[in-house]
Amino acid sequence: MTAREVLKQCFGYDSFRNGQAELISHILNGQDVFGIMPTGAGKSVCYQLPALMMRGMTIVISPLISLMIDQVSALRANGIPAACLHSMMDGDACKDVLRRVYNREIKILYTAPERLETPSLRRIAEEVPISMVTVDEVHCVSQWGQDFRPGYLKIPDFISCLPRRPVLSVFTATATKEVADDVRNLLHLRQPFCLTTGFNRENLYFAVQRPRDKFQALLDFLKQHPGKTGIIYCISRRLVEQVTEELCLAGIPAVRYHAGLTDEERQRNQNDFIYDKVRLIVATNAFGMGIDKPDVSFVIHYNMPKNLESYYQEAGRAGRDGSPANCILFYDGGDIRINQFLIDNSGENPQIDQKTRELLRQKDKQRLRIMQKYCTDDACLRHYMLSYFGDTAPAVCGNCSFCQTNCEQKDITLETQKIISCIYHLQEKNLSFDAKSLTQILRGSKAKKYQEYHFSDSLSTYGIMKEIPETQCLEIIRFLISHSLLSEKENLLYVNRKSALFLKEKQKLSMPVKKISFPAESSQQKDKNTGTDEKLFGLLDQCRNTVAQKEHLPPYIVFTDMTLRDMCRKLPVSDMAFLSVSGVGRVKLEKYGDAFMNVIRNYTAQTRKD
Ligand code: ADP
Ligand code: ZN
Repeated sequence: MTAREVLKQCFGYDSFRNGQAELISHILNGQDVFGIMPTGAGKSVCYQLPALMMRGMTIVISPLISLMIDQVSALRANGIPAACLHSMMDGDACKDVLRRVYNREIKILYTAPERLETPSLRRIAEEVPISMVTVDEVHCVSQWGQDFRPGYLKIPDFISCLPRRPVLSVFTATATKEVADDVRNLLHLRQPFCLTTGFNRENLYFAVQRPRDKFQALLDFLKQHPGKTGIIYCISRRLVEQVTEELCLAGIPAVRYHAGLTDEERQRNQNDFIYDKVRLIVATNAFGMGIDKPDVSFVIHYNMPKNLESYYQEAGRAGRDGSPANCILFYDGGDIRINQFLIDNSGENPQIDQKTRELLRQKDKQRLRIMQKYCTDDACLRHYMLSYFGDTAPAVCGNCSFCQTNCEQKDITLETQKIISCIYHLQEKNLSFDAKSLTQILRGSKAKKYQEYHFSDSLSTYGIMKEIPETQCLEIIRFLISHSLLSEKENLLYVNRKSALFLKEKQKLSMPVKKISFPAESSQQKDKNTGTDEKLFGLLDQCRNTVAQKEHLPPYIVFTDMTLRDMCRKLPVSDMAFLSVSGVGRVKLEKYGDAFMNVIRNYTAQTRKD
């Protein structure tokens, strides 16, 4: 079977997402890989899929028990033999897993880094062939990362004890250059194939607000988004308590989550959230790592977090399934003082000496300043964030609170037509130019270097954009490149299939531009109409809940909202059709196909009668 076939059969997806295919093929060729991909990009498939295709077992090192359990449930739901070993399991359960590992019944084994030292796992490693070791959240290995975890430093020792060195595949959603270098060195990656897919999450709307009354602002937001699932992050346990209580008093069900609760309550509240029994969870940053719930529709930060890395990670828990989602930060000056206090009084890690600790504090303060600038700068929030993470991003995104107030959509159909046809005509003359020169030609530059071409006689598009300022012209060209309407090779511009279609089909195009005057009232992003038949969706959702309850699984492990929506579109009533739904693989077809197809059959019969 090819990787593509395994993707459909075992995971139910038709095509790879950006970066997945490359990472997988390098792993299958035996090369180490280092994937830096934003939350929700689909990192898990990058190692789970090759793990199935390789001969031995894969060990996945993961920082959190909840993350392991979630991933293992998702794999099992797809009929994939996976298991985990963690400190919350009793002796018998561990023995049972080890027995199955010895019998070569497990393809993917999840465990925590600290476990790598245990004799039982060391013995396994000697006897059972291990094809790959995967490290998830690999930034935890670096002191310079935002959540350093000493246990991760045990990984190289474990690998060096293995009879044969496995392929190493490591993943994270955030890594500055410093952290990435640390990862490469500390884990001894061998000429790894490194891939960064870019950090942008198009479906997320980012906003910073400075409400005079944060709680009122929260209520207003919730009123505008009834029934949606969301996380509200607060900076302290006390505030979590307060906000939860006030919400409940206001008749809005919410549960709390922080490190000061009993294990039992924390687990219960987390489960209620994951199993859709309650839509809102109010939490400190202790909540979330390992929460793969795909249908979180908003993340509200009641306070400014300590750095942009944490913010992007926490806010990124919204909209993992690709649906439009909101990330709102409530900022006030007091947040800076609290964060500064937290840095000055941060936990003393006995493994870190005085000098390093001071250095780390300096780093933390610098990160805090960068975070504060995000909240106070008058600029596109997405541009600011993406630039910080090293991505090139357009100056305005059109989908953040700054852009909503300061940008408008400008029709650039005519300009696009002019630019494309100019490049066409140049290409006919076997000429190609970079963006800057093209701009000059479009604006009819008299510069010497163009004189030899006699454009004023021979090029009808010479000077047709005289009236457009140079910077604006360049922005439009960059916008066209980023939307693949032009191709750029070694800085030179070319037309492509999409540009041809644009002209031929008389398509229209607009792009966000900074408003020059009359800033309008800021408006919330409206949920884009996804065109789903809400009534059928509701019925399928009920069916999913019934199935999930019977199997003691979170509903999204059975099927995600995206999958249900695809069912609403495709209305499958045969096995073949059901298999064509995104997120349906062989095992899920067998397990759940009938139940869901019955719902669809009844529904379509009913609507036909109506
Ligand atoms: P990450 O670990 O990068 O945050 P996940 O691995 O949890 O992201 O994937 C996010 C969501 O996208 C999951 O629901 C996953 O099943 C889904 N997904 C992954 N790969 C694909 C794909 N090729 N096509 C469609 N959905 C995918
Ligand atoms: Zn923006």
